[in-house]
Amino acid sequence: MIQTTQNSEEIQGKHYWKSLDDLADTPGFRSWVDNEFPEGASLMDGVQRRGFLKVMAASFGLAGLGMTGCRRPEHAILPHGRSPEELIPGIPAYYSSSRPTSAGFVPLIIESHEGRPTKIEGNSSYQLGGGSTDVYTQSSILDLYDPDRSRGSFTNENESKGNESSARWKKTPSAEVRKDLANIENLDRVAILTDSNFSSLRKSLFQKLGQKGVKVFSHDPIDFHNPENCLSKALGIDSSLRAIPNFSKAKTVLSLDSDFLGHREPNSSVNTKQFMPGRRVLSPSDAKKMNRLYSVESDLSITGGVADHRLRLSSSETEGFSAIILIKLLELSGEKNPKLLEQLTLLSQGMDNYDKWATECAKDLFEKPKQSVVVTGSHLPSSVHLLTYKINQVLGNQPTCLEYVKVDHFAGNLSSLCESLKNEEIETIIFLGGNPVYHFPSVDWVDLLKSTKNKYRLGRSIDETSQVCDFHIGQSHFLECWDMGTNWSEDICSPVQPIIAPLFDTCSDTEILSSLLGESKNSHDLLIEFFKSDADVSESFEDFLKQGVANVKPSLLANLPNPDQAVLEISADDITLSENSLEVLLIPDFHTWDGQFSNNGWMMECPHPITKLTWDNALLISPVLAKKLEKKYPDLGLLPKATMLNNNGQIAPDAAVFKDGKQRAPIVRLRVGDHHEIKAPLYVQPGLADYTVVSTIGQGRSRVGRVGSGTGFDTCSLIHTDSNRISNGATIEPTGDFHILANVQEHWSMEGRAIVRETNAKYYSEHEDFAQKMGAESHSPPMWGKDQDASIAEKATTTPRGNSAYEHPDDTYEHSETFGLHQWGMSIDLNQCTGCSACVVACQSENNIPIVGKDQVLRGREMHWIRLDRYFSSTEREGAELPSDVQVSFQGVACMHCETAPCESVCPVNATVHDEEGLNAMAYNRCVGTRYCANNCPY
Ligand code: SF4
Ligand code: SF4
Repeated sequence: MIQTTQNSEEIQGKHYWKSLDDLADTPGFRSWVDNEFPEGASLMDGVQRRGFLKVMAASFGLAGLGMTGCRRPEHAILPHGRSPEELIPGIPAYYSSSRPTSAGFVPLIIESHEGRPTKIEGNSSYQLGGGSTDVYTQSSILDLYDPDRSRGSFTNENESKGNESSARWKKTPSAEVRKDLANIENLDRVAILTDSNFSSLRKSLFQKLGQKGVKVFSHDPIDFHNPENCLSKALGIDSSLRAIPNFSKAKTVLSLDSDFLGHREPNSSVNTKQFMPGRRVLSPSDAKKMNRLYSVESDLSITGGVADHRLRLSSSETEGFSAIILIKLLELSGEKNPKLLEQLTLLSQGMDNYDKWATECAKDLFEKPKQSVVVTGSHLPSSVHLLTYKINQVLGNQPTCLEYVKVDHFAGNLSSLCESLKNEEIETIIFLGGNPVYHFPSVDWVDLLKSTKNKYRLGRSIDETSQVCDFHIGQSHFLECWDMGTNWSEDICSPVQPIIAPLFDTCSDTEILSSLLGESKNSHDLLIEFFKSDADVSESFEDFLKQGVANVKPSLLANLPNPDQAVLEISADDITLSENSLEVLLIPDFHTWDGQFSNNGWMMECPHPITKLTWDNALLISPVLAKKLEKKYPDLGLLPKATMLNNNGQIAPDAAVFKDGKQRAPIVRLRVGDHHEIKAPLYVQPGLADYTVVSTIGQGRSRVGRVGSGTGFDTCSLIHTDSNRISNGATIEPTGDFHILANVQEHWSMEGRAIVRETNAKYYSEHEDFAQKMGAESHSPPMWGKDQDASIAEKATTTPRGNSAYEHPDDTYEHSETFGLHQWGMSIDLNQCTGCSACVVACQSENNIPIVGKDQVLRGREMHWIRLDRYFSSTEREGAELPSDVQVSFQGVACMHCETAPCESVCPVNATVHDEEGLNAMAYNRCVGTRYCANNCPY
């Protein structure tokens, strides 16, 4: 029964669009929307069945490889006469552990079924993380079951190492390789090249090895330690100085090209957990207390998407912009330093266009002294980190909103390793993790290593770096070994516990280091020994494991050195950008990060939060640059044509850009200087700085498993060995080739229905029920229910079924917590959602949903049970002009569990049914695959 609504006045919201084709309403887009479920779509026409099964297999790992290879870490096998303690078939057990990353250890709780790890969650005992994780941590469990990971150790039998050849790896017991390592005599001629790691155990082993003469070097294509090293150098401090912001205390935040809420910066889960509660709005009065974010950036990042005020600016101009902000703040504070002001004026030359924006931003920052924080992207040069340090000092943000932690780095850099190799000082090299041969192709590794006698590689798969080595040692997954380490802010320590014995004959990094010390202990014994003697933890080992987190004291910098002299020494950059002299910014790839997730199907198929690309990377450019390139190269075929009629007055198919849901992108040649050149497809992304080309590191790998093989484009030749990720003076020219991108942004289109309901804080504080007056709700009648006349607040808090069509089945609900029937619901607070996509992969991991591969994604058959819609909106647009400044809105779309579910009424076999607690359930064994339910779902 329905009742007509009393108020049918509809609020007209903004115009939301998903893509440039959607905005231009091209025939290609219309035909895709009309034929989203074309006749015969369920047939496997033209699909390579073998390829489909290949990728499916890679994500079925949890059910296949894990099941057969699963073992508890025990040494004897006994009949199952008495059930092992804590193992009840069907009931999961939970263990604390943590995931080592290049930005610290992430404390976790691992769910295990019958000794098999099945799901990863954040450890809520870690208060900073609050039980949350990121998309990579969610995906990392799939790597344990990766069918392409190395299943032991191997000897390279190929004479000419580094050259392509097949079938040359001979399986060798890991114990044998470890014995060889233990017998190395000249330890002062041994070098280790490692990736960044926060393991306390590993650090102590490095120190022991260092005392015996072993040289340790480290490398990172995405170097998070750059800012702290820059700061210590500029301020003349012995140890590196890491800035740790506390966003929970900050009322105003300025981000200088820093994606602190996204995957490009360290500690993003903690940052998000601190920052987003400042946007929790439960009533109109909360709207006035929200924090405010200013973002200045060249790329359109997750952080920029969340920002209240966003300025598009190239990364190279951030130095000038920081100087202008500092001038404004010095003026507001009344600090008189003519020399400093003169220098800042010099640095901020050419920034006049941004004066108004900077004035407002500086005023807002200054209005709330000691309650703001300014953060800087880790890829930016030393000068910007120094200016940011001074800005925060003027604002008095330390210690409330910002602390500086002193950290020690003892490893040499990649250039000094190359120098030692060139001078033939190294007899044995061990590549411990990372993938330097892939990341730094500008180094001639084969030539450099020709006089090195022994070359060992510890890695998760036989990859690019293994090719130049004599031995490849399979690396254990973090769920297979013991370790402990600190987080990014160095204020907690957490253990790594194995949840399963190594599935294969693999070793951990600490076991390799122990072999080199001549001890050959396993990671458990090494950790126990370290914990007893050196660990800075007061808890017992058992309590430490139980809790999964222990507090430790970071080494905080109490007195801030004065940076004025260092600021006076900054030399101004004179960079002019244009379509003939572009800036190139290298960022980690969302899907693979630096390449380490290349063979992880969940990550490859998880759509990029902003571009919505899957299975690929592309060179992102702004609409302004796209238009200029189209003018220069009329056949480029990059932008959708807004005009739909051809010369004969017929609808012109816009096949050059978008056809049948496939995006055809022109492949271009991107040149930086004389030596660096890459080829990759172009993709137009509104929101980018006009002359910045954003390129990602981590795709196009040559030695990778079945998932990553043949995906994306390699851009590593643009990385400098000092890990500088900004280049200038680049040019673009078409190659004449095209590449099909699997972009899901137009999939599941709402055909103009206003799914996003948003307004500003002021309007909301006066119209709490605005969302009900937008879109379909404004003119459709409410469902009948016993509580229909109650207020929204009352329905949300006191009545169990809101405005339900059904009576609640259990009238003891108010008193029943553990028994009786319930009405379930899940809400996503869109004010809090950053679009990180962790929920998309978490759902895939929880429900073991397979991937379908690029070919199937192109047909709109991705299988995610939660999708994340990203909408753009723009206020100013002249005619058919493509907008450069856009606002981003995210809308997570899971099953709504509709009360009168359209998917149920069309199912011919009653496979989709409502259960007694109001959930829309699926009886899988009844489903015959008609896809009627999917066709009839309004979402
Ligand atoms: S709801 Fe939003 S913020 Fe939360 S996990 Fe999903 S995408 Fe991330
Ligand atoms: S119609 Fe769609 S949203 Fe509604 S219950 Fe069915 S699947 Fe879920």
